[in-house]
Amino acid sequence: MSFESLGLAPALLRALAEQGYAEPTPIQAAAIPVVLEGHDLLAAAQTGTGKTAAFALPLLHRLGATPQRGPRRPRALVLTPTRELAAQIDDNLRAYARHLQVHSAVIFGGVGMGPQVQALRRGVDVVIATPGRLIDHMQQRTVDLSGIDTLVLDEADRMLDMGFLPALKRILGALPASRQTLLFSATFAAPIKALALQFMRRPREVSVTPPNSVAQRIAHRVHPVDAANKRELLLHVLSEDSRRQTLVFSRTKHGADKLVKYLEQAGLRAAAIHGNKSQNARTRALADFKGGRIGVLVATDIAARGIDIDQLPMVINFDLPMVAEDYVHRIGRTGRAGADGLALSLVSHDESGLLRDIRKLLDQDLAIVEVAGFEPSAPLRLDAGAPRPKQGQRQPRPPRQGGAAQGAPRSHGHGQPGGGNPHAAGNRKRRRPRRPAAKA
Ligand code: AMP
Repeated sequence: MSFESLGLAPALLRALAEQGYAEPTPIQAAAIPVVLEGHDLLAAAQTGTGKTAAFALPLLHRLGATPQRGPRRPRALVLTPTRELAAQIDDNLRAYARHLQVHSAVIFGGVGMGPQVQALRRGVDVVIATPGRLIDHMQQRTVDLSGIDTLVLDEADRMLDMGFLPALKRILGALPASRQTLLFSATFAAPIKALALQFMRRPREVSVTPPNSVAQRIAHRVHPVDAANKRELLLHVLSEDSRRQTLVFSRTKHGADKLVKYLEQAGLRAAAIHGNKSQNARTRALADFKGGRIGVLVATDIAARGIDIDQLPMVINFDLPMVAEDYVHRIGRTGRAGADGLALSLVSHDESGLLRDIRKLLDQDLAIVEVAGFEPSAPLRLDAGAPRPKQGQRQPRPPRQGGAAQGAPRSHGHGQPGGGNPHAAGNRKRRRPRRPAAKA
C-alpha cells in the first residue's frame, strides 16, 4: 500500500517523501481511512508503530483542506501524558505540515506560561497539551476550546495510570459535544474501554498487534543477578556492547540519579531523565542522547514515556517495573519502525514475581541467561509464590566499589533465601564479578 492510495493531500505526500517514509505502517494503513471518513477511533498501538502519523496525517489533511479565514482558533486538541511526548508530537506535526498552512502550539508544564499564551493569542489550528497545563490555561481563559472538532487522546492508558482521569473528564466536559474523538492506547485494558464508552460515539476499533503484545522483532533476554551486583553487571554489559546508545530504565528517580553517578565515575557518558529534573534538563539530556553526545540515558517509566529515539538497538531494564504493562511501554523504545531490538533485563531474586507477571502478560518465555562472573546466589523463582519487591521499596544499596564479592554480606530482606549472603549459596562457587574496562 502507498500513502497516495490513502488519498492524502499532495502537500502531505511531499512532506512524507521528504521524511523518507516509503509506505504506511500497519497502524497508519488501518487507521487513516477510518479517520478520514470521520469516525471515532479506538486504536491499540504502542509507541514505535507510527501511531503519531496515524492520527496526524488525516488530521492535517482535513485542516489543510479547510484553512481558517480571519483569526485562527484551535480546531484540534491532542492530549498526551508527558511533556516529552507533547514536544515530539509537535515536531512530527510540523514536519508533516511543512507545506500546509496549519499552525500548532504545544502546551506543557514546567516552563513559563507566557510564550504559550502568546502562541495561542497569535492563533493556532492544533493544540498539543498535557492535561494539567491545559487546565491552567482553561482557568486563566487563555485557551479557547469552543472550536475543537477533533480530539486525540494519545497514550490514554498511561494518562489513566498517571491519575489524569479527573483532569481528562474536566477537559472533555469543556469541549463541544459534536466532535471526532481518536483514542490511542498501547493496551485496551478495561478502564480504557470504559473511557471510550463514556466519551466516544460508536468508535471503530483498530488493532495492529494483539492487545498487550509487543513488537515481534524484539528479542528478550533476562540476566539473573544478585541485586548487590547489578551495577557492575550493567557496566559489564555496556562495556561489552559496541552499540552506540542505550536506554536504561530505573524504577525510581533516586535510583536513576545514583546509577548515572556510578556510570560517570566509571568513565561513561550518561544522563538521567525523570520527573524531578527541570524541563530544560530533560530536554538537554534527550537532545544530548539523540545527538550521540551521551551514550547512556537512564530514565524512569514516566519520563521515558513517548521518547522517540530512532532505532535504538537495546533497552536495559536495570530493575523490572512494578506493573507488567510498563515493560511493554519500556521496550517499545527498541525494535522501532521495523528494526531489530534487544530488551535486556537485569533481574534479582526479589523481582522474580515481577518477571512472572511479564511472562504471563506477553504469553512468552523470556530467555534467562546467566553471565559468567555474575551468577546469582539464588535462582529466579517463577512459581506462584515468587517474591516481589514491595511498592515504593528502595533499591538495595550496592556495595562499595570492589566490595561486591569480598565485602561484608548485606541482607536483601523480603525473605530471599540467602539474601545476597555469599555463604548461603550452598556449594555453588561464587566468582568475583569481573570489573570491565570503562568505556570512553
Ligand atoms: P511513533 O510510533 O509515532 O512514535 O513513530 C515511531 C517512529 O517511526 C518515528 O520515528 C516516526 O518518524 C517513524 N515513522 C512513522 N511512520 C513511518 C513510516 N510510514 N515509514 C517510516 N518511518 C515511520
